[in-house]
Amino acid sequence: MDATAHPSPPTRTETIAAVVHTARDRFDSGATRLLSWRRAQLEALQRLLRENGPAIEAALWRDLRKNATEARLAETGVVLAEIAHTLRHLRRFTRPRRQRLPLSLQPATGRLVREPLGVALVIAPWNYPVQLLLAPLVGALAAGNAVVLKPSELTPTVSAVVAGLVPQYLDARAVQVVEGGVEESTELLRQRFDHIFYTGNGAVAKVVARAAAEHLTPVTLELGGKSPAWFDDDARLDQVARRLAWGKFLNAGQTCVAPDYVLTTPDRVDALTAALQRAITDLYGTDPARSDDYGRIVNDRHFTRLIGLLDGARIAVGGQRHAADRYIAPTVVHAPDPFASTDEPAYLREEIFGPILSIVPVADVDAAIGYVTARAKPLALYVFTGTASTREAFVARTSSGGVGLDAPMLQAGIADLPFGGVGASGMGAYHGQYSVDTFSHIKSVVRKPHMLDTLRFAQPPFTAAKQRI
Ligand code: NAD
Repeated sequence: MDATAHPSPPTRTETIAAVVHTARDRFDSGATRLLSWRRAQLEALQRLLRENGPAIEAALWRDLRKNATEARLAETGVVLAEIAHTLRHLRRFTRPRRQRLPLSLQPATGRLVREPLGVALVIAPWNYPVQLLLAPLVGALAAGNAVVLKPSELTPTVSAVVAGLVPQYLDARAVQVVEGGVEESTELLRQRFDHIFYTGNGAVAKVVARAAAEHLTPVTLELGGKSPAWFDDDARLDQVARRLAWGKFLNAGQTCVAPDYVLTTPDRVDALTAALQRAITDLYGTDPARSDDYGRIVNDRHFTRLIGLLDGARIAVGGQRHAADRYIAPTVVHAPDPFASTDEPAYLREEIFGPILSIVPVADVDAAIGYVTARAKPLALYVFTGTASTREAFVARTSSGGVGLDAPMLQAGIADLPFGGVGASGMGAYHGQYSVDTFSHIKSVVRKPHMLDTLRFAQPPFTAAKQRI
């Protein structure tokens, strides 16, 4: 053998195949099925987050200029709450449940057994790069799976920090991080997984679903879209404006459940605009560019896209921008009456995913509901009204992933509630029990004992007596 010959370094394909192979070996060993393993992993993830808060917050500041308090509230805090809730109920979430069987089958017993699916792939986006990577991991671990995590390449500091920490805390064979962008994702998607959990945009979701189909792998798709809000609560104008501005301008509008536009009657447009201006000043001061609490756009491509949306728009509040640090001020635009004009501006067609809130004038609640139902099903829908029948009309007559009444965002972050989209905003849901179920197969186990063999009545020969049953 030539001693000078070095083996060539593994290709990307070989490296990624090896990662999945290791995870599968670990799953096949049976270790991840043990409740003690699941509990230990969740506790380790808890420690990872608690012991590395400053490093994670610094990474979020670097990538998104996300304020440390906001990072604790909307990123690490959400994952820690999810872990605490899951640990508290782990036994209940995962234990077999007895199932009553029909009288005609008696005597017999039935059980529902949740079994882990195997090796799960979690592909996360950049806007909440910690929460949306690690909250699905909580459910996958609680259900007893091995997991490959793919953080977003658009938040490289967070990606590197997570990739460095995960093997220090978690079972390094069962939980692995693959960093990278489209090439790495494409290679990962060539592998066979037992579940793929994707959060991001609808176009890539189709790529993921197509690749998953090749292996008949089930998918959860957590997508976005244009989440509408309805406003007619004149008595609480300022409170509503403050809540709307908070939900919209958090993370500089780069939140999948942020209100995308507000439907209201034409006579309310000016009052709402003025109240939004007051709320923005309240939250971020007279110059939000100087507020440490206001974020930046993730990259130049998204900055240019958002500035493009403002082209020709009627800007009522904000509109200032600084390309150098990708700042766009909290902005409110006045949309034309959608039923009177044929020319729909781009900001009404595309998901905004940035700090631009449009106010869309419509005649009344029916017109608003008609506007919403004529479009793709959104991830969230918000209703700000003092009238119970209006609230219920939106709940009953529209379809969306979730609904927020009098407050945005909350429905997405509560560990006991399923979070997911419908139609174009996604399929499947997670958090708490719903996460465990997403990453489990629920199998029916039926036992028909031999004593009192009533099964004979269903077996040939079908005598005259049996035919009468
Ligand atoms: P992104 O660009 O970070 O993409 C998401 C992931 O997909 C990344 O890990 C990326 O590497 C991977 N990816 C990109 N191109 C790929 C390809 N061709 N093949 C395979 N993988 C690929 O994030 P994004 O899509 O810009 O995220 C924003 C979108 O996500 C918005 O539409 C938003 O509404 C939605 N979103 C939804 C939720 C939710 O929970 N439902 C949460 C956040 C964001």
